[in-house]
Amino acid sequence: QLTRTLNEMIGRLEESFNAVLQFSGDAAHEMRTPLTVMRGEIEVALRHQRTDGEYRSVLESILQETEQLGSIIDNLLLLSRMDTRSDSFIFGDGSLDRIIMESYEEVLPIAVEKGVSISIESLEEISIRCEAGLLKRLFVNLMHNGVKYTAPGGSVTCRLDLNPVSGAARFTIRDTGVGIPGRNLPRIFDRFYRVDPSRSARTGGKGLGLTIVKKILDLHGGAISVESVPGAGTVFTLD
Ligand code: ADP
Repeated sequence: QLTRTLNEMIGRLEESFNAVLQFSGDAAHEMRTPLTVMRGEIEVALRHQRTDGEYRSVLESILQETEQLGSIIDNLLLLSRMDTRSDSFIFGDGSLDRIIMESYEEVLPIAVEKGVSISIESLEEISIRCEAGLLKRLFVNLMHNGVKYTAPGGSVTCRLDLNPVSGAARFTIRDTGVGIPGRNLPRIFDRFYRVDPSRSARTGGKGLGLTIVKKILDLHGGAISVESVPGAGTVFTLD
């Protein structure tokens, strides 16, 4: 009995060591890409004397890459804070409908620019104990993904409903986008996981958005489920 328990424990430890190793490898790889791009741009620019306009365009491109790098680091720091110091977040009474409205207003200009319509179909007034900043990040991530993975002309619709029996809140977000193949669905909440890395590279995605969504929900005792039909769209349901 003891041998079996010990073996199981060693197995679990080995799994978590491997996960840590895999994670540092992935993180290093993701951060090296923008650095390589920056280095290449600088080296090419330094090869000859350039015009002011050319220097400016190199600096603009480097600025973009540093923004990418900054956003990866911010996301990793947030994940690590949620993993190791979750008691450092201050929870209070928050209005879910207001947080959703604010998130919507933040994503709206991005949707308008892309030609994707985003709307809120219903919005019950619901108050819960939460960390409002984290919840806003969660809704923005989901709405932004909806817009990112939906072609111009498509739509993203959100609803916040109250279950009359249980009194629990349910948030649903539905898009008419590219969808996610069934075999990829179980992994979309993993760190750095992207269904189609080339598509995500174009949209600037690093595969951390849904990991953060899931972690924030865990901290609030919530759950997320997803249904998707490739080519037709995706629905995320949060309870
Ligand atoms: P990313 O930053 O790459 O968007 P996420 O963690 O937010 O990373 O999402 C992981 C992957 O799940 C994405 O690369 C994308 O392929 C897929 N995905 C997420 N949301 C949607 C959606 N609404 N429609 C289609 N695919 C999605």
